[in-house]
Amino acid sequence: MIMPTTSLPDDATSPTPTSDGGWTATSATRPRSLVQARMAREVVCWCASVLVCWSAGVLVTSPVTAQEHKHLSMQEFYLDPTLYEMISPRHEYRVMEGGFPTKNIDSTVDVLSYELWFDWVMALQTARSERPERKTEAKVVMHVRFLDGKPSLTLDARTVIIDSVFVDGAAAEFEKTNSVLEITPSSPFMANDTAVITVHFANASDTRGFYAYSQVEADTLDLLAPIAFTFSQPEDARRWFPCNDKPHDKAVFTVHTRVPTGYTVVSNGTRQDSTADTDTTSWQTWNHPLPMSTYLLCVNASKFHLYDQQYVRDDNSIVPIANYHWLEDQNGQTYSAERSLAEIPNMFAAMEDRFGTYPFETYGHVTVAPIPFGGMEHQSMSTINRRWLMGDIELGYAHELGHQWIGDEVTCATWADIWLNEGGASFSEALWYEAKLGPVGYASVMDARRTRYMRRGLDEPPVYDIPINIIFNEATTYSKSAWVYHMMRRQNGDALFFPALQSYIKKYHLAAAQTADMLALFKEEMPNPPVDWDTFFDQWLVKAGHPVLNGIVSANTIAEGGMYRTRITITPMQSGENLPSDFQFPL
Ligand SMILES: [Zn+2]
Repeated sequence: MIMPTTSLPDDATSPTPTSDGGWTATSATRPRSLVQARMAREVVCWCASVLVCWSAGVLVTSPVTAQEHKHLSMQEFYLDPTLYEMISPRHEYRVMEGGFPTKNIDSTVDVLSYELWFDWVMALQTARSERPERKTEAKVVMHVRFLDGKPSLTLDARTVIIDSVFVDGAAAEFEKTNSVLEITPSSPFMANDTAVITVHFANASDTRGFYAYSQVEADTLDLLAPIAFTFSQPEDARRWFPCNDKPHDKAVFTVHTRVPTGYTVVSNGTRQDSTADTDTTSWQTWNHPLPMSTYLLCVNASKFHLYDQQYVRDDNSIVPIANYHWLEDQNGQTYSAERSLAEIPNMFAAMEDRFGTYPFETYGHVTVAPIPFGGMEHQSMSTINRRWLMGDIELGYAHELGHQWIGDEVTCATWADIWLNEGGASFSEALWYEAKLGPVGYASVMDARRTRYMRRGLDEPPVYDIPINIIFNEATTYSKSAWVYHMMRRQNGDALFFPALQSYIKKYHLAAAQTADMLALFKEEMPNPPVDWDTFFDQWLVKAGHPVLNGIVSANTIAEGGMYRTRITITPMQSGENLPSDFQFPL
């Protein structure tokens, strides 16, 4: 349902409906063409708060083209926040059948901690073609709490070779299938008990989840040193260690990694002591004491150089920022960490202003190559592609930093909710540019996101519950989702939206949330939205697509009693599978 504009020119009467579904308004004093132009501009102007596509543009008889109007009005819209903060609720309530969908989460098993040992010496020193089936030797010790009693524990485990399993120190029976490790102790796990599970295993893959490049591959790929690293999102942690590989189950991690002398290991949290075990190898330990999802764990090793930065708050408290990359990339002609990372402390200030206090004790970046992605928000230690050190991917750094709040501090509870993470991080790119460049900077990012979505918009599936094999869909998971955050901001106003967003982050601090959790909290925090919350979440997330509008603005040519009548006809044109026929939005 499309409702009339609430932003008529100062001298216009309220619009009135006509028998064929159009709307008319009358101007007492302004020349016809100006009223037409202003109204056309403002119709488009309101739509800058909504992800809408004009199928045929707006027919305007003023000298300014519709395209120019749109550009101008979008700038005007972004520059004048009063335009979008004065909207009052005008739309009918549309009940979402059965409420927003949720996924069943198995919370009967809660892993409290993982302590991991990986021996990467052979993988770093042996050409990939000459490595045996066992790429690394490894061990994990897990503390697992059982909320229900059960005879066995099932862990996710794919390309790992299981050697032995112990439960509370006693050897346990186990069965390894293609995708899971089922552990059966001599007596059942009891409700509310905590068990210590120890698994000795080896990694069978060095090309997925865990990646290793020796000097042979480094020479071929133009890498400056051998390198090994991990990348798990969404479900590849299980490919390099047995775990409860569900984003909602957070645990604390300690990782010990054995590497040749001269190599530096980088992981989440803070570096602990390093222990030499031979003349040519050492064990290096990292610990992250705050709860973290398995997919956010990373381990990296190469001949890294450490470049320290820090973010200093007004109260003089400090967040250390530890950046690891090859020494030649510290300030080289092509790759320069100093140039590329210069804005990171300022980004912290911008993000804390919008999201609240940075949730972890430390932050950092570890640069790896070769990888087929740009960056990854590993908790407190983002992994970045070496390409990003070329200095032209500033928004990528803002994206990964934004994830530390939206994605890491509060994690999507299921992969159906990935839009919460990626939409929030993509939105944070715009917030950074807003802090740095003002409203025009914000608009430039959102316009770019709009373009990326519109290239494929109507062909893409709904945002919520996107199939896991396409969850990193640029059009929807990133761009349309960023617009969902943007629309919530614009339609409710900064004074309500950002406190509500911070309440959401605080409520799910170091935990996980489903989309329905955000919806419930926003209903409480912003009880009078322009569009009912259930309707908003349903049409933008559960349904596909966006409004496609055909708009015509016309006016009579002869004044009636000194009044000119302007008529706006807007027709929704979108159609397709699972597409709302009656998007509701402020217009
Ligand atoms: Zn992201």
